[in-house]
Amino acid sequence: MEHRNIAFIGAGNMAQAIIAGLVQGGYPANKITVSSPSAIRREPLEKEFGIHSTNDNIDAVEKADVIVLAVKPQMMEEVCKPLQNIDMSKKLVLTIAAGIPATRYNDYFATQLQLVRIMPNTPALVGKGLSGMFAHNSLSSQDKQFADELMKSVGTTVWVEQESAINDIIAVAGSAPAYFFLFMESMQQEAERLGFSPEVARAIVQQAASGSTALAEKQHMLPFSTLREQVTSKGGTTAAALMQFYEGKLPENISSAMQAAIKRAQEME
Ligand code: NAD
Repeated sequence: MEHRNIAFIGAGNMAQAIIAGLVQGGYPANKITVSSPSAIRREPLEKEFGIHSTNDNIDAVEKADVIVLAVKPQMMEEVCKPLQNIDMSKKLVLTIAAGIPATRYNDYFATQLQLVRIMPNTPALVGKGLSGMFAHNSLSSQDKQFADELMKSVGTTVWVEQESAINDIIAVAGSAPAYFFLFMESMQQEAERLGFSPEVARAIVQQAASGSTALAEKQHMLPFSTLREQVTSKGGTTAAALMQFYEGKLPENISSAMQAAIKRAQEME
């Protein structure tokens, strides 16, 4: 990965996860700066990773080749407007904020930016994220590659051709951890009703989930339907359980839940 000067604007969970991924992957810490008004957030990052930290967004952006905008969406306009006098012509801007269309940043900065809009999900916090990536065609392949490698430090990336597909990524990956957690939560509740202690119930469900994921990863050539069939003997216990899911229209429910997420993402833009 090329070594450019990177400034993170915002020192929250996502910025921290990406900084950790970069530094642990061998990116030089002295090429990374984090800027945040909150010393409580930025100073531990400076200590832990040996990066620079500042409370001066303007200085951080002026000195950087790549700017990662990692503040809450509702803060974005207020954070970007004071940066309007900076020459952005040779800088790459990456934004991980949800719900803000790419072209809106040109208004915030009052200039045409080289920008990548990124939609990561929370497993990025443990290096297993999935980031949806969008850039207009005018972005250079070097900039695209840089953004791609940066987000690969916390997981995998998927580039979308149309910006609207970022909302699809939200439904399939961004919100997905909550779908799986709901499933796990419901399974734990039933395990507790069966008499397992909360700790044991949680451990069983967690192991069943991570074991299933590991199996799916190892046998990635097989469709999920085949993996499902492999644990479902005719007339057996799993078949009895799955029958309940189908009668409750679980696949249709999942489909309408994902459509609801897309609709909400569209409304929020
Ligand atoms: P967070 O609240 O943990 O962090 C936000 C940071 O911004 C804080 O450190 C705060 O100090 C800093 N900040 C506030 N005002 C600032 C200013 N004027 N200048 C510089 N920094 C300022 O948020 P997060 O969870 O890390 O999310 C950051 C962005 O990532 C959001 O836009 C969110 O939509 C996006 N995102 C988060 C997730 C997630 O799972 N956490 C997933 C996808 C996208």
